[in-house]
Amino acid sequence: MAAQQEKNLAEERKHQNIQNGTKASQGQWGRAWEVDWFSLASILFLLMFAPLIVYYFIMSCAQYQCSLTDPLLDLLTGNKHLSDIWNRTPMLTYRAAGIYFLWVTFQVFLYMSIPDFCHKFLPGYVGGVQEGAVTPAGAVNKYQINGLQAWIITHVLWFANASFLHFFSPTIIFDNWIPLLWCANILGYAVSTFAMIKGYFFPTNAKDCKFTGNFFYDYMMGIEFNPRIGKWFDFKLFFNGRPGIVAWTLINLSFAAKQQELYGEVTNSMILVNVLQGIYVLDFFWNEAWYLKTIDICHDHFGWYLGWGDCVWLPYLYTLQGLYLVYHPVQLCTAHALGVLVLGLLGYYIFRATNHQKDLFRRTGGNCRIWGRRPQYIECSYTSVDGTRYHSKLMTSGFWGWARHFNYTGDLMGSLSYCLACGFEHILPYFYIIYMGILLTHRCLRDEHRCSSKYGKDWKRYTAAVPYRLLPGVF
Ligand code: NDP
Repeated sequence: MAAQQEKNLAEERKHQNIQNGTKASQGQWGRAWEVDWFSLASILFLLMFAPLIVYYFIMSCAQYQCSLTDPLLDLLTGNKHLSDIWNRTPMLTYRAAGIYFLWVTFQVFLYMSIPDFCHKFLPGYVGGVQEGAVTPAGAVNKYQINGLQAWIITHVLWFANASFLHFFSPTIIFDNWIPLLWCANILGYAVSTFAMIKGYFFPTNAKDCKFTGNFFYDYMMGIEFNPRIGKWFDFKLFFNGRPGIVAWTLINLSFAAKQQELYGEVTNSMILVNVLQGIYVLDFFWNEAWYLKTIDICHDHFGWYLGWGDCVWLPYLYTLQGLYLVYHPVQLCTAHALGVLVLGLLGYYIFRATNHQKDLFRRTGGNCRIWGRRPQYIECSYTSVDGTRYHSKLMTSGFWGWARHFNYTGDLMGSLSYCLACGFEHILPYFYIIYMGILLTHRCLRDEHRCSSKYGKDWKRYTAAVPYRLLPGVF
């Protein structure tokens, strides 16, 4: 069995590395081969508590007007028992199961059955069949980039229904929010478990599998790098990009519709959240080909972290601001609303411009202009597992000369703006910026660790040239 051979090889590599006195040598980038106790403890914590955290947030809104402390106080003071809260929680319904099944099936249909046509008429848009980055085993995967089309078709149908078809109410998502949570969890666990079994028994590319020997780590972080069914159904691209991210803007629209139904108006804060997050989502689909070169696709393996995370964490926790505003319809004063808008747009500009600079630089091999000048860079090299040597460049110009991850800084500014749109009464809508702060700081450290083992001394030269990570002069 190919996967078994690769597992044995992994064991051999581990021994060789220990004999050589190195934990990771060049060419072995991607997630870890060995698990330290801290990673294991974090993984166990997340596996046990992440589903509870999501439930707690959503339940707090449904039963406690979005107060995060009241449920705890009720439980601690004996005012309520866990069973009281649980008994008031809506269960899985046939209706929600039907809606969810139709939703995922429709997205699979759009992903698999309609080759991209947007790139044929939208100037500047890159879609259709595109190549991903070189994997650690030296493979280059092809992807059908048709996410923008899927997003447009889905939203045209949504607006057609809301305006004149009236097959269902636009509040349908809000009205079934907790029953849908159970469906999302079932899919999230099913797909992660399937990915694990597939990694062991019928991997798409055995050489790109990683086994640590630790069940929990492998389940969480994934074994296979790019699991696929057939030639085109790519798990990472589909689950990262479709059921969760296409839904993000629909969920926000459903929350806006609920505000309208409950209060007879949609507040400016709800409009701001819809517009700013809508720009972010649309940006994702407009740049889906670029997304093939980001860490999620280039370096992360597909396990519970991506599978469950894309199905549950993303649609439920990234949309907390809209949910909060259904329970607390905040109408911002003009100065506050303008401040949120400016921060959100500035953050988006930095996020996009920084990502664009790197993309342009990598696509042209440095043969381009950044802020009107030829970019400066550091030449570097790395080796894939089959021993092939590759050359690459790390740019030190533009935003990439300011900090090593200024794109994350822009992302954080945008994230903060969504939270600020909700006013200052409750902490719940601020979960997003706290979470993104932890996620992106951790991601930054994880990426740097990986780059350091990939590029070795060349990475040291780069960090000497660009000493800060997120904020010049601070961190
Ligand atoms: P980056 O786009 O920053 O990619 C990092 C990779 O870029 C490195 O691994 C390295 O890859 C290469 N690189 C690093 N420095 C340089 C340089 N100076 N010049 C050229 N190439 C360089 O990270 P992500 O993929 O994590 O993020 C992409 C975007 O997605 C970010 O803007 C982030 O904010 C956003 N994001 C959003 C999330 C969300 O949940 N909303 C989650 C995660 C990301 P190589 O091995 O090719 O050299």
